[in-house]
Amino acid sequence: MTVAAVAALHDLPELVVGDLLFKVAPPRERTTIEIVVERDASLVLKAPPAVTIERATDFVKAKRQWVYRKLIEKDALSGPPVLKRFVAGEGFSHLGRSYRLAITPDGTGVRLDRGRFHLPSDQIAHGAEAMQRWYTEVGTKWLRKRIRPWAARLGEESVTVEVRDLGFRWGSARPTDGPQHINIHWATLQLPPTLIDYVLVHELAHLRELNHTPKFWSIVDRLMPAYETHRTALAAAGKHVWLGSIM
Ligand SMILES: [Zn+2]
Repeated sequence: MTVAAVAALHDLPELVVGDLLFKVAPPRERTTIEIVVERDASLVLKAPPAVTIERATDFVKAKRQWVYRKLIEKDALSGPPVLKRFVAGEGFSHLGRSYRLAITPDGTGVRLDRGRFHLPSDQIAHGAEAMQRWYTEVGTKWLRKRIRPWAARLGEESVTVEVRDLGFRWGSARPTDGPQHINIHWATLQLPPTLIDYVLVHELAHLRELNHTPKFWSIVDRLMPAYETHRTALAAAGKHVWLGSIM
């Protein structure tokens, strides 16, 4: 008698299908498979004990478009993390262009100079933090200037941008009675300028409408008529953005 080797889904901690990563929830007595998109945009797969990897993969593939829609609704970055190593030649993006890393014998922090990122050798152990600091500092200056025409279109004289680590979100915004301000993830600075503009416009629109209602999208449309193309491009580009994970 032979028993076919059928791999059980619950032998895996995670299931990766294409560019989506699902945590596998502990098996529970249930009859259906379910995908849960968590608040932080992480994905969880809940399935009956006997489900095979093959069956779960087919299920996820069939639901893929739904998952992407949910992730877009959450303004989320998604997918298995992009990992970086702090060795000479590693690539890092800035404003949509990729630059190689060079390790330098001295210096005080990361520099982008003559087409390369330079990292002092004594900071290799904290390379991720040093890079994030660079994106944050350079990005803050760049974004504060970049947002002006968009804020003006919205009818705001000034909107302050703060660059932070926002986990799995590109940006966040909450209207106040006082001066307006939005937060942008430091990782956003890796994107091409047109996609960063879309993130800015999206967060600016949230200053008028908190939720993704038709009113919200009509504000986005008024500020940036080509936004749908950028929104789709952003969902695709997000999978290649480095969020600080190291190898
Ligand atoms: Zn939003």
